[in-house]
Amino acid sequence: MSNTTFDEIGRALRGHQRFAILGHVRPDGDALGSQLALALSLQQLGKDVRVWNEDGMLEKYSFLPRAELLTKPPSAAEDVDVAIALDTAIQNRLGNTLAAVRSAKIWINIDHHRSNPCYGDLVIVDSTAPATGEIIFNLIKSQGLPLDHDIAENLYAAISTDTGSFQYPKTSARTFDTAAELVRVGSLDVGQISQQLYENYPRRRLELLRELLRTTRFDFGERTASFSLTLKTAANLHVLPEDNEGLIDHLRAIRGVIVAVFFEELADGKVRVSMRSKDEAVDVCAICQKFGGGGHTLAAGARVRGSLADVEKKVLEQIREALKHRS
Ligand code: 5GP
Ligand code: MN
Repeated sequence: MSNTTFDEIGRALRGHQRFAILGHVRPDGDALGSQLALALSLQQLGKDVRVWNEDGMLEKYSFLPRAELLTKPPSAAEDVDVAIALDTAIQNRLGNTLAAVRSAKIWINIDHHRSNPCYGDLVIVDSTAPATGEIIFNLIKSQGLPLDHDIAENLYAAISTDTGSFQYPKTSARTFDTAAELVRVGSLDVGQISQQLYENYPRRRLELLRELLRTTRFDFGERTASFSLTLKTAANLHVLPEDNEGLIDHLRAIRGVIVAVFFEELADGKVRVSMRSKDEAVDVCAICQKFGGGGHTLAAGARVRGSLADVEKKVLEQIREALKHRS
C-alpha cells in the first residue's frame, strides 16, 4: 500500500528548500491542521513554505495557531522544489492549487484514504490511520522534526476532528498515545480546543439543521436515513459550505440506521453526496467510487452530475444493493 519510508520523506524534507503544502477542496480539520503543522515544523527548519488550499482558511478553523499561513493559491504558478499533498484522496481534489505548483520537482503524497491511488513520487498512504494528522505526528517524531505548542495544537485538532472526538472505529491505543503526547508536549488546553471545535458554531448552522431535518427520509426498513440541501435553502439561510460539516452525524446517530446520506445541490450542476456507514459490510467508499468519488469504508463522498432528485434516486438504488448483499 504505502511504498515510501518516513526516512525517505525525511531526507526529501531536509534536502530541499522551497515547499508547497496542499490540502483537499472543502477542507476539514484534518486537512487544515495537518497542513499547518507540517508547515510550521518545516519553517522551523528554515524552509520556505507556502500553505495553500483552494478555499483558503475557513472561518471556523481560524482559531488554529498560525492559521494566517494558510491561503488560497496565487493565480500564477510559483517555483517550488517539493509539493506535498495532505489528506487528499485523488490529485484533482487539490483543486486550483495544482496549477500553482506546476514546477515542483518532487511530489509527496501523505494520506489515510483507502481509495488513494498513491499518486506522486514519495507516498505514504496508511488507511489504518484515523487521521492524516496522526501520520504527520509519526513523521515528525521519527525524523526528529520540530514539534512545539502550535504544531501540537494543529495536530490535536486534526486528529480530534477526523476521529469524531476519538469515537470512530479507527481510533486506537496509538491514537490516544499520540493525543496524550501532543497534550503533554504542547501543554494543550483540551477543553478550550474542544470548545473552539465543537461549541462555537454560528447560529445559522442550527437553522440549517432545522431545514435539513424537515427533508429527512428513511428508506429500506429505516436502515438508510438521508436529507438534502437545495441551493435555494442554502441561499435563504446564508450558510457557508463549511456549516454543514458534521450535520450528517445526526442521521448516523439514529438507532437502526446503517447508512446516512447527505445530498447537497451545487452551483455547477452537480450534487455533493456525503455518506456514512455504521457497518464495515456496507462499504460506502465502494458505493461512492461507482459515482467517481472515494474516501473510507465508513465515510465517503462523491460529486455526481444531475438534479438533486435524479442523484438521490441513483445513489439510494446503489445503497439498496449494498444493503441486500449484507443481509
Ligand atoms: P465528507 O462526507 O466529510 O465530505 O467526506 C467523507 C470522506 O470522503 C472524506 O475523507 C473525503 O476526503 C472523502 N470524499 C468526500 N467527497 C469526495 C469526492 O468527491 N471524491 C473523493 N475521492 N473522496 C471524497
Ligand atoms: Mn482526513
